[in-house]
Amino acid sequence: MSIENNIVNRNIILRFSPEMVDQPLVYRLVKDFDLIPNIIKANVNQDRKGNMVLSISGYENDYKEAVEYMKSCGMEVSFLADTILWDKDSCTQCGACTAVCPSQALYIERPDMTVHFDSDKCIVCQMCLQACPVKAVKLDI
Ligand code: SF4
Ligand code: SF4
Repeated sequence: MSIENNIVNRNIILRFSPEMVDQPLVYRLVKDFDLIPNIIKANVNQDRKGNMVLSISGYENDYKEAVEYMKSCGMEVSFLADTILWDKDSCTQCGACTAVCPSQALYIERPDMTVHFDSDKCIVCQMCLQACPVKAVKLDI
């Protein structure tokens, strides 16, 4: 571990093959790279392919080495750095995005059951982009 090094807090999406599903990734990030991982959302589908939204804190050099390690294991690593825009006027209030949003940034407010967006809670995982049938959520890049 480097001594002169920035502390970073980054959000990433991991996609991995069935062979990787049972690997102790979080343990290795802590033990081998001195990082603090926080699993925001994890799924394994019927084909045993996995995806995980992960928040990682630690020294920047350790973070970079961990990313290289994950890639060398065959994981696909996507970085979450942009901002999400929600177009209230285009939104049809179908609610599909609220079912996939891991941080409740897109949520249904009761009792009127209307969809709202709290940008402060958004971790830019991009799950809602795939879920929205009318492209009411977009990346601000
Ligand atoms: S990108 Fe979309 S799904 Fe992900 S946290 Fe933000 S609003 Fe929720
Ligand atoms: S999926 Fe799209 S249209 Fe449906 S509630 Fe979310 S933003 Fe609105």
